[in-house]
Amino acid sequence: AAKDGGRGRYHFYSQDLHADAEARSAMEEDLRDALAKGELEMFYQPIVAVETQRITGFEALMRWHHPVKGWISPHRFIETAEDTGMIQQLGEWALRQACEQLASWPGDILMAVNVSPLQFANPNLPSIVANAIGHAGIAPSQLELEITETVFLQDSAGTEAMFAALKKLGVRMALDDFGTGYSSLGYLKKAPFDKIKIDKSFVRGITEAGSRNAAIIASITSLAQSLGMETTAEGVETMDELDLVRKHGCSHVQGYIYERPMDVRQADARIAAGLEAVARGPRCSRAPR
Ligand code: C2E
Ligand code: MG
Ligand code: MG
Ligand code: MG
Repeated sequence: AAKDGGRGRYHFYSQDLHADAEARSAMEEDLRDALAKGELEMFYQPIVAVETQRITGFEALMRWHHPVKGWISPHRFIETAEDTGMIQQLGEWALRQACEQLASWPGDILMAVNVSPLQFANPNLPSIVANAIGHAGIAPSQLELEITETVFLQDSAGTEAMFAALKKLGVRMALDDFGTGYSSLGYLKKAPFDKIKIDKSFVRGITEAGSRNAAIIASITSLAQSLGMETTAEGVETMDELDLVRKHGCSHVQGYIYERPMDVRQADARIAAGLEAVARGPRCSRAPR
């Protein structure tokens, strides 16, 4: 019986794997055409300075509108793009889109663009970034590249050289999703980031009694401040979370409490209405997703 069960299970698993593989390759094929078919779109989410309560920048976030499956989250398709190498093409497109969008906006708004570790490992990245900036005609200091700490797990000489090459272009660098990975402080010494983005998993739960997240956030912000880095708290949804991240020294906030990611039309209208930001949200319970 055990043997049968074993065989049965094997059969079941292999069919499952087959279905998985089919779904994966269907996704890959669809994604391959998505750019050409105009199914990809950049959304923009405001980032607010705590002190002035004004929008100082936007993060560019990719969206895929699949003709059959509807909106697909980047959490699902960025990984496929990375597995297939398509991320290089998608990433370059995202950079160009974001820079051109920024060029159409007034003032000295910042634009933050996510850069995959695979793009960061591409020796052509500095020229791709320089071309996007030059083509759009924006100041390099208006562009902020968000990278995650996973880039530091690879060859460190190459990583440091890439970081230096990008800084030399005059762009800003942000460390994204801080707190989700190894969170070693070692690379803060090696890589002079302009900003640390504290992951929403730290913000979540900051309001709970006895939570250690508040103490961790306070020490990250004081370290960042002494190194001359800004800190953005990600995923702030409630008034209580806003009060606490403010109290613990975060310089910027990005979250539904202020604004959700929006399409170009909405972002244009938001900017035309002025950059003052108003926090709107529940006091303590979290907003529905
Ligand atoms: P990320 O870079 O950490 O981006 C922040 C994510 O938090 C976004 O998810 C944003 O919509 C979400 N968010 C913002 N405020 C709140 C909030 O108050 N509550 C909650 N629950 N979520 C909030 P999104 O747009 O789904 O993107 C997911 C991830 O996909 C991004 O995380 C980033 O790692 C990746 N991604 C998105 N666009 C690109 C891109 O153009 N290139 C690359 N390489 N990665 C991208
Ligand atoms: Mg990001
Ligand atoms: Mg993040
Ligand atoms: Mg991320």
